[in-house]
Amino acid sequence: MEIIKSNKGGNKGFYKGYVYVVKYIGVSKITWRCSQRCSMKCTGELYTDLKMENPEVKTGHSHLKDDDSVKIEKALCII
Ligand SMILES: [Zn+2]
Repeated sequence: MEIIKSNKGGNKGFYKGYVYVVKYIGVSKITWRCSQRCSMKCTGELYTDLKMENPEVKTGHSHLKDDDSVKIEKALCII
């Protein structure tokens, strides 16, 4: 899990070709949801611990991974 702080203040997580945003921060783990939830109607989610490590996939994606969009998202975040 690779974390990049977005310029809008939120974190984005990159894992195995998919982009995730924080959905919910719990007491022992963080739930992330797919950043393409709206555009792809994707319900993909995963958990990490509070250090944003040890990702564990909860729900699979309804679309294929897209390395190009990951690169674009990363570039947008770094600016
Ligand atoms: Zn997805």
